[in-house]
Amino acid sequence: MRFVFPPPPSVAIPVVGQDAAFPVHRVYCVGRNYAEHAKEMGFTGREPPFFFMKPADAVVPVPAGQTGAIAYPSLTRDLHHEIELVVAIGTGGRDIRAADAHRHIFGYAVGLDMTRRDLQGEMKKQGRPWCIGKGFDQSAPIGPITPAAQAGDVANAEIFLQVNGQDRQRSNVSQLIWNIGETIEHLSAAWTLQPGDLIFSGTPEGVAAVVAGDLLSGGVAGLEGLSVRISG
Ligand code: MN
Repeated sequence: MRFVFPPPPSVAIPVVGQDAAFPVHRVYCVGRNYAEHAKEMGFTGREPPFFFMKPADAVVPVPAGQTGAIAYPSLTRDLHHEIELVVAIGTGGRDIRAADAHRHIFGYAVGLDMTRRDLQGEMKKQGRPWCIGKGFDQSAPIGPITPAAQAGDVANAEIFLQVNGQDRQRSNVSQLIWNIGETIEHLSAAWTLQPGDLIFSGTPEGVAAVVAGDLLSGGVAGLEGLSVRISG
């Protein structure tokens, strides 16, 4: 096949313990999936999960032991961090039952759903899509993927984020409103999942603003961590 210009390379995330990388297909995100975060955003109760997407090339893979860099984005004065457990799909499918979801999971990683909160808030108010608040360039830094078999008990793992060494977010994946299996069940009813899909599973409470120069260090117990600096 000849192209009128070179096609972009696929975004590839390092895999712990393997030379081969994980090629990213789509990036799905779950909104408000921890009760305490839903509360801080002004919501209560168990509503069905809802989803938004980021472009695959918004992913910034950060190799193990390195500090990644993302630029402070345009148009915002309120860039927020959201630390999240990311599920990496290895086997596609549709209408996947929660009980079968584990068969589709390649592994797990730590990701940041960076958010232009002021723009997202404005879009919410006007009933418009969230893309400009959520799907901007470099909005999805992500650490290496740990294969599921080596990841330990992710469903009961501590999840945390520090900014410049100070705790900002600290919770446990067990606090998810919709757990990983249930999330995959709902998601795969709406879209056919493909190998290479990533699912940002939601963030716990404590989201707040960062500024240029800040160092974000996050983790999920049992997984390779994620370290990112906001450049000017
Ligand atoms: Mn999020």
